[in-house]
Amino acid sequence: MKSDIVIIGGGIIGSAAAYFLAASGEAGGITVVEPDATYAKAATPAGAGGVRRLMSLLENIRMSRFSLDFYAGFEAAMATDDNPADIQFRRQGYLFLTNVQGVRDLTRNFETQTDEGVAAELLDADALRARFPSVGTRDVALACHSPEDGWIDPHAALMGFRRKAARLGVTYVQDRVVGCETSRASLKHVALESGGTLKGDIFLNTAGAWAGEIAAMTGAALPVVPMCRVQHFWRCAHAIEPLPLVKDDSGAFFRPEGDGFVGGRPSWEIEPGFIWDIDRGYFADYFEETVWQLLANMVPKFETIKLQRSWPGHYAQNLFDGNMIIGRYSKGHDNILTACGFSGHGIMHAPAVGRALCELALTGEFQTLDLSRMGFARVLDDTPYRELGIK
Ligand SMILES: Cc1cc2nc3c(=O)[nH]c(=O)nc-3n(C[C@H](O)[C@H](O)[C@H](O)COP(=O)(O)OP(=O)(O)OC[C@H]3O[C@@H](n4cnc5c(N)ncnc54)[C@H](O)[C@@H]3O)c2cc1C
Repeated sequence: MKSDIVIIGGGIIGSAAAYFLAASGEAGGITVVEPDATYAKAATPAGAGGVRRLMSLLENIRMSRFSLDFYAGFEAAMATDDNPADIQFRRQGYLFLTNVQGVRDLTRNFETQTDEGVAAELLDADALRARFPSVGTRDVALACHSPEDGWIDPHAALMGFRRKAARLGVTYVQDRVVGCETSRASLKHVALESGGTLKGDIFLNTAGAWAGEIAAMTGAALPVVPMCRVQHFWRCAHAIEPLPLVKDDSGAFFRPEGDGFVGGRPSWEIEPGFIWDIDRGYFADYFEETVWQLLANMVPKFETIKLQRSWPGHYAQNLFDGNMIIGRYSKGHDNILTACGFSGHGIMHAPAVGRALCELALTGEFQTLDLSRMGFARVLDDTPYRELGIK
């Protein structure tokens, strides 16, 4: 008998899982509970949409590889009558810049990446200047350029997954999960804010920065918390050659967007929690006092820019090791799975994670890409599995 599946949270991860489950034809009824069809507070539309294989862990590189190919074919595979599924996929590259302290990590990661077939290249300051004259080289000891990585419009990708999933028979319920009814061995049904309940055979907790709240409803604890990350859009009056997405050791990054640039720099000092008003408190002067100088280090022409707008989003930050947690996590409840804690990588990994959740839900095992090292067991065993170097 086919299992009925309830997906809690219909952001890019929940919707990618819904799509893969529906496309498999192997699931029973698939229902996604998502309170906000505008996704005003979800992480996905707030993200920069970067998709890169410049990572240190094999699983992360391989997930990004699958996702890049998937996003390259997204429009053709995901278009529906009411949605052309154009995700503005731009293969304009990624460029990591490091100072002397980061050279060892960058070089080791480069070797791992090229072993995995990534067409990356290392550039010293002279080569960097010749290739990208606008990029500042003052503090740069080494750069790594991956010309075939790029970025997408994350909201368009989310809506592409959602609309295609709906076309394949997935039901989206506009509601919020507020409780979980468990027996000794499993989750039986979820309680909805509207007053109803939803039964299922298998439940996926894909509630992003709210995944910890959902986990608490079955008495489980995930080390995943909301962490505010502010993003900015600015214009620069000076001509700048087409650049890749550029990121340095400080975590500051930017990429071209229309006639300007989007980017920012994660604040490492703030406490976890949702922050929606960024005009007051910690973030009030954050761009002027912190981000701007870091951007101008990367591109000296950014000394004169006009900030157009800033907006908050929230990483589902995995405090344990900064990587996603996938699979079972709620002791004694074998029918609850999660994929959460992406800490800034969820858009680039969504297609691979959607596929992995589908495999886990239908067969209990990873079928294509073994992600078992990303499971909750590492939290219980206290063995962190971290990205090294620029994250
Ligand atoms: C500023 C910023 C920049 C980023 N840049 C990148 C990038 O360049 N590349 C990259 O790969 N990633 C990036 N990320 C990270 C990426 O956006 C996230 O990892 C990804 O969007 C997570 O998707 P999600 O579906 O898990 O979460 P979300 O998109 O947040 O979706 C979770 C959904 O759960 C729903 N929900 C909440 N509570 C409940 C409930 N009780 N019941 C039912 N549903 C519920 C919410 O409404 C929400 O829609 C960035 C994030 C930010 C904030």
